[in-house]
Amino acid sequence: SNKAGPPSLALKGKKMVFLGSGKMAEAMMGGMLNSGAVEATQVTACDPNATRRTFLSDRFHISATANNADAAKGADILILAVKPQTMASVFDGIRDTISKECLVVSIAAGFTIGQIREGLGVERVVRAMPNTPALINQSITSWTFTPEVTTEQRRQAKEFLSTFGEEVLLSDERMLDMATALSGSGPAMCQLMFEAMIDAGVHMGFPRDTSRKLTLHTVRGSVNLALASGEHPSVLKNDITSPGGTTAAALYELERGGMRTVISDAVWAAYRRSRELG
Ligand code: NAD
Repeated sequence: SNKAGPPSLALKGKKMVFLGSGKMAEAMMGGMLNSGAVEATQVTACDPNATRRTFLSDRFHISATANNADAAKGADILILAVKPQTMASVFDGIRDTISKECLVVSIAAGFTIGQIREGLGVERVVRAMPNTPALINQSITSWTFTPEVTTEQRRQAKEFLSTFGEEVLLSDERMLDMATALSGSGPAMCQLMFEAMIDAGVHMGFPRDTSRKLTLHTVRGSVNLALASGEHPSVLKNDITSPGGTTAAALYELERGGMRTVISDAVWAAYRRSRELG
């Protein structure tokens, strides 16, 4: 669990409404309810998909509805968790019922605060970028807020985002696009690297499940070591690179293949794409 201490009371009694109750909404609901910061009776899931509604109300004992407009009406915190291309039609449905005091939290990739302000006619907006480890309460979620968000609502946003991982407050929206590239697209980039390592193991002759286990535990251990030691990765790398050894041979090939610049280009490509979508 990511809980360091008892939950604060920022979300006590607040009505939390999710518009769009797919994969990410489910992860957020799970973290939020398990943390004890919110009771099931405070939470409403909205989704046109009846299977999703039944699944979520059974799993979390929350209320579920297909009626966005009704649900949005009483919301203290409205979480926009639909696909970016669905946002505009969702706005049309709730513009007239949403309260001016409501805190709107959007996780839609590439959708700007300006578009939300304009589309919904609201001022108190948080834009957040979680990532898929939210599914196991290990999201790293970047966020930023409009000046109209009150101090109390800022506290609510921070507490909400901490229930499914860690949060990092960024000073401006441009950095949110940067986070979309680095931490939003990052998990897929990591999975590709894991896949390449697993395949290499199979190529040498390991059974696939052995190769997978060796790879994933190597990655997990390396991440935990870097976090625990606080050392820069280059120091940890040099520590295990003996003169004329096997690691040096591997690192030489990665450098020759342009690994650093390939990764840099990939992150920049995701950043540019995120700016294009917004
Ligand atoms: P998803 O497809 O699992 O969920 C979207 C849900 O919205 C579906 O259940 C769908 O039925 C519902 N929906 C469709 N039309 C609707 C409407 N008019 N009103 C209410 N609900 C409606 O998608 P997801 O992966 O949960 O992503 C949701 C958002 O989160 C996206 O905007 C995405 O950019 C953002 N996001 C995703 C990730 C990720 O890693 N998946 C990370 C950060 C942000």
